[in-house]
Amino acid sequence: MKIIKLSVSLLVFIMLFSVTGPIVGNNVSAQELEEISSTYASTVDTNEKPLEGVTILLDPGHGGWDAGAVGPTGLTEKEVALDVSLLTEDKLESLGADVHLTRYSDVDVSLYRRAAMANEVGADLFISVHANGAINTAAQGTETYYSSFRNPNDYYLAESLQEGMVNNMGRPDRGVLNQDFLVLRASNVPSAVVELAFLSNYEEEQLLRDDDFKDKAAQGITEGILNYLGE
Ligand SMILES: [Zn+2]
Repeated sequence: MKIIKLSVSLLVFIMLFSVTGPIVGNNVSAQELEEISSTYASTVDTNEKPLEGVTILLDPGHGGWDAGAVGPTGLTEKEVALDVSLLTEDKLESLGADVHLTRYSDVDVSLYRRAAMANEVGADLFISVHANGAINTAAQGTETYYSSFRNPNDYYLAESLQEGMVNNMGRPDRGVLNQDFLVLRASNVPSAVVELAFLSNYEEEQLLRDDDFKDKAAQGITEGILNYLGE
């Protein structure tokens, strides 16, 4: 009996020590704390402009006479594409990127002209922004296209953009698709076409009208670019 009591009190002693021990042992001095926080601050500073030196051409799809897809309540693809491209431009510029758009207003620009601009501005990336349309009004979700005809490695850009958009927009993931679009084939830089969501779907048309949702789309594209460039 005495042995049991003794071992119980020994156990309690060990438990108390193991709880209090590490706290006393790991006391961090004020100076050490300052060093830790200044190291953290300098890490944050260097990551403030991770896209410094990167040139990106965003291509709001359609424009002018070409409205693109039109939703059941009249929202046009050309409007959505421009809104999301302008929001994406802001986010990318705040990260230090040099951003150009193929159009800043509701004007017609040929597909050859759009692709040629990617080469002219010395873009590192070319991203064409679209919203989908389908005869089947139940079709919904996000998809991204690349052209294996141009460069099979563009798959990785498309995959990264797709992941960023699905994570932020929360729509069904329709995956990355290989399609030899003229606008992709004619550019000489890593290129992708993003299809944000379906304008032909009533629910997604309402979402594409919403400023918060468009901001999420822009955030998704931005995160996709950051991940692709390994930042
Ligand atoms: Zn389109």
